[in-house]
Amino acid sequence: MRRCTRCGSELNEQAKVCPVCGTPVDEERAHLRRMVIVMLVAAIVVAALLVLRSRQLSGGADNLTAAASAIGTAAAMRPLQ
Ligand SMILES: [Zn+2]
Repeated sequence: MRRCTRCGSELNEQAKVCPVCGTPVDEERAHLRRMVIVMLVAAIVVAALLVLRSRQLSGGADNLTAAASAIGTAAAMRPLQ
């Protein structure tokens, strides 16, 4: 036996709305669908954040490489002076 998501009263299998409070029975399914959509959006946001962070990390490595090569260039220039 299904129960109303709002008031908890028992519902007939054929009932489209709760006989006590009038809440549509499909609301639970709609709520589930909303939850799935929210979780999908959250997963996409987390994935995007992870990609951005890995790009920042690799960008930081590039900056380190650039700084190291700049230091190396400065060190190589020094004997010429
Ligand atoms: Zn109800």
